[in-house]
Amino acid sequence: MSRFQVKKVAVLGAGVMGAQIAAHLVNVKVPVMLFDLPAKEGPKNGIVTKAVEGLKKLKPSPLGVAEDAVLIEQANYEEHLEQLRDCDLIIEAIAERMDWKLDLYKKIAPFIGKHTIVASNTSGLSITTLSQALPEEIKPRFCGIHFFNPPRYMYLVELIATPTTQPIILDQLEAFVTSALGKGVVRAKDTPNFIANRVGIAGMLMTMKEVENFGLGYDVVDDLTGKKLGRASSGTFRTADVVGLDTMAHVIKTLQDNLSEKTDPFYPSFGTPAVLKTLLEMGHLGQKAKAGFYKKVGRDIQRFDLSTRSYVPAGEKADAVYERMLKKPAGERLKLLRDSEGAQGRFLWAILRNSFHYAAVHLAEIADTARDVDQALRWGFGMKQGPFELWQEAGWLDVARMVQEDIDAGRALSKAPLPRWVFEGPVAKAGGVHTPQGSWNPTAAQFEPARQLPIYAVQYFREGMLGDGAPNPKTAGVTLHEDRDIRLWTLDESRHSATGSVLIASIKTKMHAISPGVAEGLIRAVNLAERDYQGLVIWSGDEPFSAGADLQAMLPGFMMGGVAVIDMAEKELQNAMLKLRYANVPVVAAVRGLALGGGCEMAVYSARRVAHVESYMGLVEVGVGLVPGAGGLTYIARRAAENAASSTGKDIVPFLTEGFTAAAMAKVGTSAMESRKLGYLLDSDIIVPNKDELLYVALNEARAMYQSGWRPPHQRQFAVAGRSGKATIQGQLINMRDGGFISQHDFDIASRIANVVTGGDVEAGTLVNEAYLMTLERQAFCALLESPKTQARIMGMLSTGKPLRN
Ligand code: NAD
Repeated sequence: MSRFQVKKVAVLGAGVMGAQIAAHLVNVKVPVMLFDLPAKEGPKNGIVTKAVEGLKKLKPSPLGVAEDAVLIEQANYEEHLEQLRDCDLIIEAIAERMDWKLDLYKKIAPFIGKHTIVASNTSGLSITTLSQALPEEIKPRFCGIHFFNPPRYMYLVELIATPTTQPIILDQLEAFVTSALGKGVVRAKDTPNFIANRVGIAGMLMTMKEVENFGLGYDVVDDLTGKKLGRASSGTFRTADVVGLDTMAHVIKTLQDNLSEKTDPFYPSFGTPAVLKTLLEMGHLGQKAKAGFYKKVGRDIQRFDLSTRSYVPAGEKADAVYERMLKKPAGERLKLLRDSEGAQGRFLWAILRNSFHYAAVHLAEIADTARDVDQALRWGFGMKQGPFELWQEAGWLDVARMVQEDIDAGRALSKAPLPRWVFEGPVAKAGGVHTPQGSWNPTAAQFEPARQLPIYAVQYFREGMLGDGAPNPKTAGVTLHEDRDIRLWTLDESRHSATGSVLIASIKTKMHAISPGVAEGLIRAVNLAERDYQGLVIWSGDEPFSAGADLQAMLPGFMMGGVAVIDMAEKELQNAMLKLRYANVPVVAAVRGLALGGGCEMAVYSARRVAHVESYMGLVEVGVGLVPGAGGLTYIARRAAENAASSTGKDIVPFLTEGFTAAAMAKVGTSAMESRKLGYLLDSDIIVPNKDELLYVALNEARAMYQSGWRPPHQRQFAVAGRSGKATIQGQLINMRDGGFISQHDFDIASRIANVVTGGDVEAGTLVNEAYLMTLERQAFCALLESPKTQARIMGMLSTGKPLRN
């Protein structure tokens, strides 16, 4: 396959989606031009300028670093069409109107480069019909590219070919979207609303229909259809409120307009629910209007009551018996729900049955394989499992019979029978649609393996499907040591393979917290790597990288042995960090998600970091009334000294401010790029867009470092800011305390941080070593642990999960 190079992308349409897609391109370092109509008044780029300004305020932020909004090149169709020629990919994301889109395609056609791929982000229009407005030579390079809102955070992108799209174009685009944008690609057929929205929105409407049938309250339904069911925690109605009921109505209308009783046997259930109509009439559009299915009144949450058109107290939970049923193994779970006496259980069975029924009836029409449906629902609707996966897990034929029985008895929402492939032939024989040979393609009547493109070869643990036999990162490779807290293993079969082998340390504790066992395991890992391997990668599979030291595990020791025990435990943690830093082989931290407190320290003491773009790093100990105690403050002091040493001025304080503030205010980067601004990632570190490429890149990095003659840094002394530096910082702290910005306890903690990072009571410029600063760190940590206010913060965090400010 020839290499498709994307030097620049044009996004047409600076609305909700276009502007955010442009922002994401900036996040992953792809140059982008954002186009919109010329403004009627003022500067011609007015519409785009306003959209770019809007990006800086949007929450959750579409930009990794808000200031990077300037990197979006602003353009309009009157002045800048010529520049389209420089773009290798054009993503059209203008308003959802066929005539407007066709007009625009005609307008841009003369300016499209010879190799440029053109793709529409439409969510409801036919890609094939859209392609017909394009000149013949562009048609082979045109397809659909359906992002989900918000595009930075939603993993799913659906790619849709037309009959004239060249297959290689789709492969090239899939490679770019996967590797450069970090997304999960599903190929969809060109049918109304493609896969995720078709099945997902139909599912939502069918759920609302069953809510009416069973007469349940929204709060109970949300409790039942959220996390407990393996779906997004906001359940059904709160999700609608968050999305916005007007948007919801729009999506529903698209479904209604695009389908009919002829094209979809479930169509009669797709009417707009009466309650939604009423809420829209009343202007209660959900969260943004501060009222929708729910309304916050003071500290209470109320729910809408259709019969009185008013709000009544909410917060009713599902019956505990169903919560217990939902925890049972899949097969037993479905049977219990179906046979349950109460409405809540039968409602749950009904919505699951509808999802199986709908997915099976539509599979051949909307997707190539069952894998595409399951992945689309997982990645586009935040479900833990797609419908086919759950069905298969629960026992394929048993569930199929239960569904068909309901259809025959008139209990299902459509009379359409399950397709024959459900009961006969390879699927029935294999006990499901996902097998080690691949996933079921009903059109080809065979199991089809996942697409093999070169980009997937570097996803060592590509997201698989239940039943597909994909390797499990928890057991894959050769295990060299495993205990409760850590697994040390390697993917390289031969220790002396030509490419060299690297040891992997995977933390196994909850939230990958750093327990004493983890610290011990890391030391063991370095010893093993130094003896037999070219490097060590710390990679723990799923998120987070590590939520920090295990406070809960520390408490019993403190209760029994007091601070002396904690001092020892901290010393061991510090030793583990130093062991990482001075290892004779390179240690690479593969960071993804949260890297907090001790997790952040583990990353900064590694020789290099390979971070997923969604990495959130910070020293957050202040939140529990403590200071970073496993080398975090020593790191801040050392970095400041190093930065000062490489500048012309030799004053350390200005180089200290950023790190000090980050620790004193427990700042956490909201992206890898922001974590770098806080000093927890360096310019030499690598940021990776796709989560599933992280391990590959980290292993390569470790190998390359070793092969380039890696030596650990010198254990050198460095200068500290001393007591005058501390006084400068303290002056600012006094102002903050006296101005009421921070509490007395915050002041005490921040003063202790200042004391450590400036080296304590010494002259400015005094040379110190890490061991000296680490002792100061431990002293501050232990002193605070004895303070009642800190103890209250710790207990608060352990009981509520939220920081207590006192
Ligand atoms: P939007 O209304 O926020 O933005 C549309 C943009 O199109 C505006 O900036 C507007 O100036 C521009 N525009 C309007 N008329 C135009 C014309 N005649 N010629 C050129 N530009 C014109 O819309 P959006 O929500 O960003 O949706 C854009 C596309 O993305 C649509 O096709 C939509 O179906 C699709 N989509 C939307 C979402 C979503 O959640 N909003 C999700 C996936 C896909």
